[in-house]
Amino acid sequence: MATPAIPQRLTNQIALVTGGSSGIGAGVALALAAEGATVFVNYSHSADGAAAVVKEIEQAGGKAFAVQADVSKEQQVLAMFEQIRKQCGTLHILVNNSGIQDDAPFLEMTLEQWENVMGVNLTGQFLCAREAAREFVRRGPQPEISRATGKIICMSSVHEVIPWAGHVNYAVSKGGIMQLMKSMAQELAPQRIRVNSIGPGAIATPINREARDTPEEEKSLLTLIPYGRIGEPADIGKVAVWLASDESDYVTGTTLFADGGMTLYPGFADNG
Ligand code: NAD
Repeated sequence: MATPAIPQRLTNQIALVTGGSSGIGAGVALALAAEGATVFVNYSHSADGAAAVVKEIEQAGGKAFAVQADVSKEQQVLAMFEQIRKQCGTLHILVNNSGIQDDAPFLEMTLEQWENVMGVNLTGQFLCAREAAREFVRRGPQPEISRATGKIICMSSVHEVIPWAGHVNYAVSKGGIMQLMKSMAQELAPQRIRVNSIGPGAIATPINREARDTPEEEKSLLTLIPYGRIGEPADIGKVAVWLASDESDYVTGTTLFADGGMTLYPGFADNG
């Protein structure tokens, strides 16, 4: 007897993944496409990276387009949403994933480092979320496609709750994303727009390569992860699919930590 086909969870939905050309964003783009979404893979500089993700999606039988924009620049974000509307008519899912680190000890951190990180991690999420919400409201409900009029997923971090010495700009940007996400969720719920965050722990991507360079560094990182392994972009892709799908239709205004237990204060596991 033939195995019945598993229905795809995001059929006929249009998704935008910012920073989709590498790391977690690429993993999320592949996972959304595998569930039937048409995925816009945003990139700021890496046209080759975005093209490779688009190609991988197409080779797996999915549909994707690359779209350039620096998410910290309002005009570029507006132009990106215009391109999506022209190509596909509307948007159903935004994954606000772009993010950078620009680390320094607090006493040495420059205003430029502070502003760069806020510009991409916080202003970038605000600009893209605002444009996505405007598009959801303009288009209105499409209950035959999804119970929610639109879904916004913010890529936060365990550092929305765990302070991080030497990375103050990054930790503040992620703490800010928590209030951005919750306030948007509160304001947009009457329009049936769901807004949630994913809080990844340590996921193997270019952003943290230096923290995993040597076996000693990797061992030290693992002491922070009770579950005993470093995460993969695909771990986050699965969470993003669930948050974007109707399976999570009653979930809004929350951060789903996918961190192997990093937020469980593992230092206290052995009596503190
Ligand atoms: P990454 O460096 O591979 O991804 C960051 C992406 O953001 C890249 O594709 C980059 O091109 C893009 N980007 C940077 N500046 C941009 C801009 N101005 N406009 C548009 N895109 C821009 O690293 P990653 O680990 O995949 O990070 C993705 C997200 O996950 C980030 O928000 C990061 O803070 C978050 N995160 C990562 C980890 C981890 O352990 N890897 C943990 C927690 C949170």
